[in-house]
Amino acid sequence: MDTFDWIVIGNGLAGAALSYELVCQGLSVLLVDDGNPDSATRCSYGGIAYWSGTNPITQTLCDLGIERHRQLSEELGATTEFRELDLLLTFGVEVDGTSLVEQYDKFEIAPQLISATEAKGLEPQLTMANLGGAFTVKHGHVNPIKTLSALNQAFRRLGGQQMMATVTGLVTIKNKVTGILTATQAYAASNIVVAAGGYSRQLLRSNNLRVPLYHTHAEMVTLPKVDAHLQTLIMPAVAQRFTAEHTASSANTDHLWEGGPHEIASPILDSGVVQFLDGTTYIGQISRFRTDLAPNPVDVATSEADMRQAITEQLPCLAHAPGQWRHSLVTFSRDGLPLLGPLPGVDGLHIFAGFTSPFAMLLPIAQRFARWVCRSSHDSDGLLDKMQVTRFSQASTPKTPIAN
Ligand SMILES: Cc1cc2nc3c(=O)[nH]c(=O)nc-3n(C[C@H](O)[C@H](O)[C@H](O)COP(=O)(O)OP(=O)(O)OC[C@H]3O[C@@H](n4cnc5c(N)ncnc54)[C@H](O)[C@@H]3O)c2cc1C
Repeated sequence: MDTFDWIVIGNGLAGAALSYELVCQGLSVLLVDDGNPDSATRCSYGGIAYWSGTNPITQTLCDLGIERHRQLSEELGATTEFRELDLLLTFGVEVDGTSLVEQYDKFEIAPQLISATEAKGLEPQLTMANLGGAFTVKHGHVNPIKTLSALNQAFRRLGGQQMMATVTGLVTIKNKVTGILTATQAYAASNIVVAAGGYSRQLLRSNNLRVPLYHTHAEMVTLPKVDAHLQTLIMPAVAQRFTAEHTASSANTDHLWEGGPHEIASPILDSGVVQFLDGTTYIGQISRFRTDLAPNPVDVATSEADMRQAITEQLPCLAHAPGQWRHSLVTFSRDGLPLLGPLPGVDGLHIFAGFTSPFAMLLPIAQRFARWVCRSSHDSDGLLDKMQVTRFSQASTPKTPIAN
């Protein structure tokens, strides 16, 4: 049996980018994914908020990230459909836009307040009926499915091996992880990295490891055929998701993520829309904070109707387009940074997850991580160190020996 240098579990944006960077370092890599068509990456808008750094470190990562996106199609030899367009963060007439300026001033490239008329100038499909105004900033955009495909193709061209299978467990000898298990076979590797998004916590839990990773149940609707052309990407000026994530992962609620299913916070609807180059349009997004992994018990018809109503109040052109409701898990950590690096007390096992809005910063983080594990560069500014799982006191120590 081959022993790979690395096995990467999960082919979302995190696993796809990391596996590509690892083969670029000359390592032998197996990328394993269960083929879930509704992974967070496959349901994602693909927006690149490269303006959203809030300190020199995150802005440097955003700058590196957008530079990488600008030349990624050429590097990979396949298109990611990268482009830059106007983001509109809209608000209704009942909101005083000036009261939101402070919230946007914290970003290194602050979105600018514009009037409803100016917003309509950028997005002619908007209705003025309830539009108070918007904040606007240049935003990057890729097609997430094409980006995955481009990363995977380049990975395989460089000798990486890709396989569709569900990882059911980890093979361990004493405190060293030596491989993965699937329904049919075991695969050996010197290092395993869990990049399974919202499923990472459960996968590690079934091996008696605990990591402070949380998830939201995200719901959105795919409209495959929309005749109207949208020029901008539209999100709400007051997004509730990040505040709700903070509440759901606080020290007070942490214990609820173990054991039986709980609803940690009330569901929220952040109404947004993005259109891809072929006209396919995604509208969303409802986030539910339930600790279990299954999409149930959601009333799909009501959920879809709520998302449609919220967006058609702004964009009536979307009212009658047929669509498909979808559900995915989006993972996040307690401080907004991802969770990466070796899991303490378990040799050969790493985590690379918790990327809640990763399109802006993930590419440079994956590259740094791959170079760091190969010792081809040091984490001289301590950036990766800030993202290590050990920053949380209760981080991943096996409560009992790891099960085979
Ligand atoms: C509607 C929506 C819009 C979004 N918009 C944006 C945006 O504009 N910009 C942005 O930056 N972010 C956005 N996000 C968030 C972003 O898409 C996700 O955070 C990101 O894609 C997560 O990537 P990931 O690789 O960590 O996880 P995932 O994409 O979930 O990938 C994990 C993979 O692991 C696989 N897997 C899980 N368990 C196993 C197992 N046991 N064995 C094998 N494989 C397994 C899963 O099937 C999946 O393919 C959005 C998310 C949603 C839902």
